[in-house]
Amino acid sequence: METKGKINLKTVIYILILVIIILFGRYIYCKYNYYDYIKGVREVGKTSFTRDSNIVYSNMDSYKIENRDFNDAMFCKEISVLPNTAYRVSCMVKTEDVENQDGKITGGAQISINNTTECSRPVTGTTDWTEITFMFNSNNRTNVELGFRLGGYEELSKGTAWFSDFKIEEGTMDSDTNWNVACFMIDNITTTLTEGEKAGDSVNLKVSSEDIETIRKNLSRLEDSIVEISGKQMSMTCDFIEIKEPLTTLSYDEENKYYAGPKDVYPLIDEYIMEEEYDYIYVAVRLGDLSQSSETLVEDWIGLGSMEYDQIGFSNIRLPDDRNSRIYQYSSYHSFPEEVFVHEFLHTLERNEEENGNDIAELHSYAEYGYTQNITSGLLRWYEDYMQNTIDGGENKGLTDFAYTSKPIHSSNFNYPIELDDLDEPHNLIEEINSIIKRVVRLFNKEA
Ligand SMILES: [Zn+2]
Repeated sequence: METKGKINLKTVIYILILVIIILFGRYIYCKYNYYDYIKGVREVGKTSFTRDSNIVYSNMDSYKIENRDFNDAMFCKEISVLPNTAYRVSCMVKTEDVENQDGKITGGAQISINNTTECSRPVTGTTDWTEITFMFNSNNRTNVELGFRLGGYEELSKGTAWFSDFKIEEGTMDSDTNWNVACFMIDNITTTLTEGEKAGDSVNLKVSSEDIETIRKNLSRLEDSIVEISGKQMSMTCDFIEIKEPLTTLSYDEENKYYAGPKDVYPLIDEYIMEEEYDYIYVAVRLGDLSQSSETLVEDWIGLGSMEYDQIGFSNIRLPDDRNSRIYQYSSYHSFPEEVFVHEFLHTLERNEEENGNDIAELHSYAEYGYTQNITSGLLRWYEDYMQNTIDGGENKGLTDFAYTSKPIHSSNFNYPIELDDLDEPHNLIEEINSIIKRVVRLFNKEA
């Protein structure tokens, strides 16, 4: 009886220890089990990654990133994609005290493609579970590294973000070559400059009714001319939107001086962007006015392009400081006043081609191919040959068919989505064990 009792107690203790070990092991496994996700971090020591079983959206443990100081960190997973295909990635996100260094609006909790500027709209501050979506064109890629991120490609964030319920869908590509274009006319600029040589100066600029008419006329000329210049390979439908609320900040860089960047116009134009599926954005501004003897903020450009607003091509069109200037007026001596609109738009097609790995001529390299500015029609001949891929002495250096369909991906690309399983977590024990074996094999392969 006595011996039997001892054995029982021993057994119980062994079993208890075993259970504790298993539970502890399970706890550690669950807390640090990221399946196929790899942790990526800009600076070590400032971020902790865990799986959280308390703050959850569904029955899956959430993926938690905590940046104790400003940093860029992500759970990252490489997936295979089909080239030239539309994808939509979504997840639920919850944030606590997320803020960006230097108050940048483009950082925060987001979905992105690692090593690119392609990302979803970010979430900052303290928010309850919200869905974020990120749409992208795979272009010429066959795999991408998707990141569920706290920070950004050029941004650093601090705070905590939880991610859950990852989903990826494949959409259909839009073969329509009509581009839906928005041109925002900024009527007023009221700001105090914070950067550059004019820092501290206050700016008060207003457009006139002639300015508005000038932009409108050129936009309508653009709709006709782009069809001709491209050899009927594309068209544009342009919306003219007048913004009466003042622009209260301007961006600055040494090369271009002052301009209305995406982050400046964001509070004024975003409601329009959210409502319509725009493929390209012009922002028309007056940045100086000699008749008011106001300061001149820019000297050497009338258009500034190759920028992006939430993955949509974006440029500034600048009204001349001198109200008597004829640069935007059509006449028999000046037959191509909408040239700057064409030029800036082409910068986006040029950029899209480059990002797709296509070796085309630089938009500014006209002189290399023997093209010159014509007094009446500017660089019209160059743009025609560039768009129609008939550049003299530059065989296949013009735009390809790809350019004309390289529009941003929109919700309408997902009217008939196909759900993919690339981001699924294991659904049952067998899948779970399979996933563990795969990761162990991968670990050994890496070390071998
Ligand atoms: Zn240019």
